[in-house]
Amino acid sequence: MKTLFACLKEAEGKGVALGHFNVSDLVALWAVARAAKETGLPVMVGVSEGEREFMGVKEIRALVSTIREDLGIDIFLNADHTHALQKVEEAARAGFDEILFDGSKLSFEENLRETKKAVEAIKNINPDILVEGELGFIGASSEIVAERPAAVLTDPDQALEFIKETGIDILAPAVGNMHGMLASMVSGEEKIRLHIDRIKELKQKTGSFLTLHGGSGTDDEDFKKAIKAGVNIVHISTEIRLEWRSGIEEALKGHPAEIAPYKLFPEASEKIMRVAANRLRLFNNL
Ligand SMILES: [Zn+2]
Repeated sequence: MKTLFACLKEAEGKGVALGHFNVSDLVALWAVARAAKETGLPVMVGVSEGEREFMGVKEIRALVSTIREDLGIDIFLNADHTHALQKVEEAARAGFDEILFDGSKLSFEENLRETKKAVEAIKNINPDILVEGELGFIGASSEIVAERPAAVLTDPDQALEFIKETGIDILAPAVGNMHGMLASMVSGEEKIRLHIDRIKELKQKTGSFLTLHGGSGTDDEDFKKAIKAGVNIVHISTEIRLEWRSGIEEALKGHPAEIAPYKLFPEASEKIMRVAANRLRLFNNL
């Protein structure tokens, strides 16, 4: 089994990206794992503070580790969007593969200071855990949102200073991406378009691993160009949640008298699996 660092290096060498999918239950977790198994590709599973509070921090770690062994897949666990130092330390002690400290709502100086503290705390507990920092705001909700967050692109010079000062391993920039989807994106009328030149500039200036957050609803060609320009991880959450909901709604409608959860959930799992597998293939040029 490879480490996350080794998989990222390999992806960078091949000009492809790791798919990262958020989960908050076993339905989505198994679907993502099966997508990785079916495609033969490495995958990342992410749990935000809210998602891991629901699943249990140690519990999600144990589940992902067991699935990794049982299916023989390179599946990694990320503590997504972590804001409190105490939550950072909790995830580090539980043995997450990656932790994202999210100070993107803070001023540049505060974000730098707080991210540096998080990096020190994590590396103190386990130096092998990769730490991601976020610079530039892209909205905070992976739901259907009413408007786009104000677009402020990450500045390459600031990014370089941020990476050097904090010691992060991975940077999450704002490059036209957004968290959540507009209703027009859910219906497919509108796609998110990315600032490919800015991704190139960030990569050239920093040489850092880059994560594209808020990938749901992004134009397929822009994904390919962004990965070619230097994106190493792509996050998909809202699309997974939409499939989860529509799968459960269809199952309830189709089987109005059914009360056994394990007979109702497979439709949602199947739908999530298909989306995750398609996204993984796209991010890996397959
Ligand atoms: Zn995100």
